Amino acid sequence: MHLEIATEPARLDRPNEDFIAASPSAVVLLDGAGTPPGSDCGCAHGVAWFVTRLGVNLLASVTNQPDRALTDCLADAITTTAALHPECDLTHPGTPSATVIAVRLTGQDLEYLVLADSTLILEHTDPTAGPVAITDDREAQVGAALRGSMDAVPTGTPAHADALRGYVEAMRAHRNQQDGFWVATADPSAAYAALTGSVPRADVTGFTMLSDGASRLVDRFHLADWTEALKLIRDHGPAALIREVRTAELSDINGQRWPRGKAHDDAAVATVTL
Ligand SMILES: [Zn+2]
Repeated sequence: MHLEIATEPARLDRPNEDFIAASPSAVVLLDGAGTPPGSDCGCAHGVAWFVTRLGVNLLASVTNQPDRALTDCLADAITTTAALHPECDLTHPGTPSATVIAVRLTGQDLEYLVLADSTLILEHTDPTAGPVAITDDREAQVGAALRGSMDAVPTGTPAHADALRGYVEAMRAHRNQQDGFWVATADPSAAYAALTGSVPRADVTGFTMLSDGASRLVDRFHLADWTEALKLIRDHGPAALIREVRTAELSDINGQRWPRGKAHDDAAVATVTL
C-alpha cells in the first residue's frame, strides 16, 4: 500500500492533539478533545499525552493481534492506556478523550472501526459508486441543542471563550451515555459503541481518514464535496487539503460565516492507495 499523511496543530505554540500512526497492515487516526483554558480534566498529563499513548497502544493491538476484533483491540488499548496513569482521576467527567478510526487490512478484507466524529472515506473499485463517507455524528446531534449561545458570539472574544467552556462542560453530561455520544476515555466499554464494518479488499482502491479539523472543508464549510477533496489530496497531497482549510478559516476568523468552537483546529489526514 501507498500511505501519505499530513497533520498540523491549530497553533504552533500548542501541542497537536491529533495523532496518526501506521504499520504495514493498519492505520489509526485519533483526535483528542481539548480542555478549554480554565476547565479541569483530572489528568496531569494532558490530552496530547493521552492521545499519543492510546494511539500507539491501539496500533500495536490491531497489528499484533490480527484475529482479534477491532472493538476488542480498542477496549484493550483503552485499558492499557488507563493503567499508565492510575494517579490521575480517571473518573473525572472531563478526563481526556479521543475520537478513533482504525483500519486493518487482512488477506481478504478491509476492516474498519469509527468512534466519534472523525471521518473515514472508502473509495470503491466501481467508479460509479463514488466515495463513501463513514462518520459517527452522535456528538454533533447532541451538541446542536447546546451550542446556540456559543455560535451567537464572535470566535476569539472573551464571551466566546466563556461560552465554549460552558458548552464543553455541558457536553460532558452526555459523554459515554446510552442516549448521548461515545468517545474513547478510560472506560473500555466505549469501544463497543463504535461503528464497525468490513469490505472485500478487492472492492476498494483506497481510503482516507480525516480529523474534524480537516474534514470541515467539506462537512462544515461546504467548499468542496468528497470527490473534490479526494482529488485535491490525490493530486497535491494531504497537506494541500489542510492548507485549503487554513485559508478558509483565515477568511472567517471571527466565525461569522461558519460558527465554530475554535477558529482553527488541529488537522490530520491519512490517505492510502491499495
Ligand atoms: Zn494523567
